[in-house]
Amino acid sequence: MPRMVAVVGAGPAGLVAARQLLREGLHVAVFEKSGRAGGTWAYDPRADADDPLSRDPGAPGAVHGSLYASLRTNLPRDLMGFSDFPMAGRVFAGDARAFPGHREVLAFLDAFAEESGVAARVRLRSEVVRVAPALGHGERWVVAWRREDGEVVEEVFDAVVVCNGHWTVPMVPKIRGIDNWSGKQIHSHNYRTPEPFRDQNVVVVGFSASGIDIALEISHFAKEVHVADRYSKDRLGKIALYKNVWIHAEVDCIQDDGKVRFAEGSVVAADIILYCTGYRYHFPFLDLDGLTVDDNRVGPLYKHVFPPKYAPNLSFVGLAYKTIVFQTLEQESKWVAAVLSGRATLPSEEDMMAAVREHYQLMEEAGRPKRHTHTLSPQWAEHMNWLAGQVGEPPLEPWKREMFDRVLGSILTLDEAYRDRWEQEEDRDSGTGAH
Ligand code: FAD
Repeated sequence: MPRMVAVVGAGPAGLVAARQLLREGLHVAVFEKSGRAGGTWAYDPRADADDPLSRDPGAPGAVHGSLYASLRTNLPRDLMGFSDFPMAGRVFAGDARAFPGHREVLAFLDAFAEESGVAARVRLRSEVVRVAPALGHGERWVVAWRREDGEVVEEVFDAVVVCNGHWTVPMVPKIRGIDNWSGKQIHSHNYRTPEPFRDQNVVVVGFSASGIDIALEISHFAKEVHVADRYSKDRLGKIALYKNVWIHAEVDCIQDDGKVRFAEGSVVAADIILYCTGYRYHFPFLDLDGLTVDDNRVGPLYKHVFPPKYAPNLSFVGLAYKTIVFQTLEQESKWVAAVLSGRATLPSEEDMMAAVREHYQLMEEAGRPKRHTHTLSPQWAEHMNWLAGQVGEPPLEPWKREMFDRVLGSILTLDEAYRDRWEQEEDRDSGTGAH
């Protein structure tokens, strides 16, 4: 049975993974390259100022966090939190709103780390620079990490759980004719506040959760906001709720005259292109035979967690998205910890590979691009239930599924007040509101 487990990263995934490993009686060291735990939720006002598209993730001082100053959760607190350490019904930093701001989530994570005993296992300012099989040590792993004084040291562990997050390295599409563009370009990774967009004509590329939030926030400062979104073809035109926001199809090209042309034929002159086009998986400390990131598919991975060739002593927690994030992190962590303690077993390497191939095959038949491999939508609940089954837990309560679907519907109304409106509706339904 593995005894010493290294966890890479002390964001929500690393914290809950460490908690589960401790519960299974394993020894844990959590490596965190920054000066505090909390990961993405430790809001970082810095942005990569010299490189607004953050093209070089290895640049010295590269910023991990992608939160903007005004960010509030896009899931209500009932769906944040962990099963026996909820956010619902408790307040951690004075922000009791149903969709709290980032400081509240960070305070929640601090409390979780303390109460679970994980905080004491976190080694701050300790960046993992290499994870590799420890030759001559059976199936163990060597972890090389940089101490605060810059020295790189090596330690051998029985297992490694990778929890380094995947909302840091921008994915920037190559727009045809971009050489004709003389304006600014920035990725949402480096968006913090709307003021710099005052009186500008802005093209926002991408319109999922962050894109919607940011486009609507800057509309109060910008002259015009033109959203380019390949998934919004059925709602092109001005958004009725806003005086200066239009939805277009995807960007077709930058014309020779430097204007932006959209696929439906409209053309605008703009000052800034703001990419809300998502992020790339990036594991600079891993160079393993047979484990690749190809078009944002990390593979092969059994159920997004175990690489069959290296299982069970190498695993990944937190790759899957479009789900109830914290609870999926918890379920994955329970599974990893149960497997490492010997309480649960994995199929053979061949059977795991067959399952991976089947997943890829189904994606291909459904016409889903490779880069969507770790998107759980629309089968997120089935996946959570599958994970629960591995550790003998009951399936997801139906109200969570209903609430998640209701949130998605609310976000798609494009009413930026959806979070507060939700709260009013809850108050009204429980008879405590003014209605
Ligand atoms: P992270 O939070 O990114 O943590 C990873 C940690 O690993 C970091 O602390 C990092 O410093 C550390 N690390 C990385 N590399 C190394 C290394 N080599 N050595 C040591 N340490 C390392 N989720 C929700 O549930 N609700 C929301 O409302 C929500 N809104 C979001 C809004 C935005 C704009 C973004 C970007 C994300 C949002 N998310 C939301 C998703 C969010 O990322 C997850 O909630 C959660 O933070 C993922 O946790 P993680 O631990 O996997 O990654």
